[in-house]
Amino acid sequence: MQPTKLLFFTAIFGWLTQAFAQQITGISPKQIIGGKGEVFTISGNGFGNSRGSSFVSFFREGNTYTDATTGNGFNYISWTNTQIKLEMPVAFSNKIKVNIAGTDYLSVDTLKVKANLGYRQANPLLYDLLTDNNKKGGVTWLIHPVYWNNPEIKQAIADVVQEFRCKTGVNYIIEPLTQWTPLNLGQGKHIIAPDSSLGVVGYNDRLWASCIVGAETFYHNQTQLLRFNTQQTWYYGKGQPPAGAAKFRYVMFHEMGHSLGLGHVNEAGESMYPTVTLLPSDNWCKRDSITAAEQNAIKHYISLSQNFAFRGCGITPMKVNGDCKDVYGLNLGAEALATEGIWLFPNPASNHIQLNISASATAEMSMWDIQGRPVMKRHVQGTTQIDLPQHLRNGVYIVSINTGGVFRSTRLLIQR
Ligand SMILES: [Zn+2]
Repeated sequence: MQPTKLLFFTAIFGWLTQAFAQQITGISPKQIIGGKGEVFTISGNGFGNSRGSSFVSFFREGNTYTDATTGNGFNYISWTNTQIKLEMPVAFSNKIKVNIAGTDYLSVDTLKVKANLGYRQANPLLYDLLTDNNKKGGVTWLIHPVYWNNPEIKQAIADVVQEFRCKTGVNYIIEPLTQWTPLNLGQGKHIIAPDSSLGVVGYNDRLWASCIVGAETFYHNQTQLLRFNTQQTWYYGKGQPPAGAAKFRYVMFHEMGHSLGLGHVNEAGESMYPTVTLLPSDNWCKRDSITAAEQNAIKHYISLSQNFAFRGCGITPMKVNGDCKDVYGLNLGAEALATEGIWLFPNPASNHIQLNISASATAEMSMWDIQGRPVMKRHVQGTTQIDLPQHLRNGVYIVSINTGGVFRSTRLLIQR
């Protein structure tokens, strides 16, 4: 056979194989969040009228496609000869595969997985949830004194916690770690600390626990640590870090994201990209907010953590954080304020409030709306009557009283 003819036949054969092998004609959506139960649809032909031993395969961390065992564990909603619907599991962005009777068929389109919510089990979806762990509504992270006593680091931590509180609704608060505690999960404390023996830049350790009541086993995160390597050159500020420095706030986005159920993604631009220093994350770590996909996945996780019906072992759901800017959990009720020599009344109020502090003291009173927008600020001394601006709508406001750098806050209801 002449060489040209051979080439021609090879080309035809190749085209034919391609035409028959290519059984996936479309995927929808093309951008998705893994692990939260979103429906993923694969269109094509020759899938078979029922799933049988066929399965869908996704690219994952570690650069491999999921195997038959994992594929059989996904939650398939429907399977016909021309369409497959399943709950989107955790995956990395790439083309997807359908394995039909032992043969893999690859999609033309790439599926972009923008965030992953990690689960214990894919079908039915089962997570290690967060609970009202501190009996103040959520989780208290104790901050190591090396961090708490450094205003720049403390601010960075407070800002990141506020970002998560305000964007996802998580009820995390921070307090100083006042007792020396070894950095292990056995201490039963949530700790944010520097660590000189850490082999990576940052790390989130988690200890789950379970409680069984009747037929139900409830899984939850009991203790977590966020550790940061002391060998690193850290930059605690905002924006782009200087060359060679690791941006603490960004690394904390990543590690705190893990603490809120997020797994890694291979999508550029996301905080959960596996590496957190140098390139490529230096290309996007200048942002000081978490991404829309991260918010979406964590909000779902928080909603599950706030609304589960399980009661047992003293477990209750995480509570709504109320004032998301209150990262120190200082919101006090009227009684607690009174024990500090501060009286604010009436509450609810309509047109004015009276604030009494001990006669000699001066204080600064600030008020925010529930979204954290400042609405007024006043200097007060002794007994002061404060008119509430008429443009303030009915609702809950946060009143913060600063006496010599000590802040105390309480909720004020305006009702006209
Ligand atoms: Zn990670």
